[in-house]
Amino acid sequence: MLYLGVNKKFDLKHHSIVFADDYQKNVQDIFGGQLTEKDFSVYLRDASAVDSTLAPAGKSALYVLVPVPNNRAGIDWSKKTPIIRHQVLEILEKKLGLTGLTEAIEVEKIITPDDWEKDFNVYLGAVFNLSHRLDQMLWFRPHNKFEELDNCYLVGGGTHPGSGLPTIYESGRIVAKLLCQEFKKEF
Ligand SMILES: Cc1cc2nc3c(=O)[nH]c(=O)nc-3n(C[C@H](O)[C@H](O)[C@H](O)COP(=O)(O)OP(=O)(O)OC[C@H]3O[C@@H](n4cnc5c(N)ncnc54)[C@H](O)[C@@H]3O)c2cc1C
Repeated sequence: MLYLGVNKKFDLKHHSIVFADDYQKNVQDIFGGQLTEKDFSVYLRDASAVDSTLAPAGKSALYVLVPVPNNRAGIDWSKKTPIIRHQVLEILEKKLGLTGLTEAIEVEKIITPDDWEKDFNVYLGAVFNLSHRLDQMLWFRPHNKFEELDNCYLVGGGTHPGSGLPTIYESGRIVAKLLCQEFKKEF
């Protein structure tokens, strides 16, 4: 992830997505623990497009998300980060037409899977949690009432129904309901 404070405004909508030229290979690489070379998919959010207070006048706050393998892949992020940063900025300049983006960066913060794991204790740095394969989606995810321990309930992206905030709120609602049932309280 790259958070960029840039000293100009670009003609962007709130959300932009650039797909890798070979998207199938890009996805296979991610799930196979390979770091795609150059041909990344990139999500870009220009917060300033909808809220001008998020950056000083004439400047903008950009957020860039690049899907990569989790830490099981053993990627040396201290070596790879500057290379990928360069490649991703090049993709945004060439494919989204953000000419001059690199030179316009005033402040930046990069967060790698290593940082998620070390700083936030996120297992394998996988912020989207268990992958959404068919055999671990929805009902196939770990259930909200832990099956091996009584009085233990699970909530969050790694459990039923899945990751992403709307689904996680739903998992909280399910657990609240289960607890109310257990303790005979009105839900
Ligand atoms: C940059 C980014 C952008 C995203 N954008 C979106 C989006 O636009 N829409 C969307 O729906 N989802 C988005 N997501 C995904 C969403 O944020 C996550 O799925 C969600 O936050 C996961 O919630 P959670 O409660 O399962 O885990 P977390 O939010 O990771 O919470 C777990 C908490 O437990 C703490 N913790 C870990 N270990 C311990 C321990 N041993 N003791 C005590 N505390 C501990 C962690 O520090 C953390 O605070 C995004 C994620 C990221 C990283």
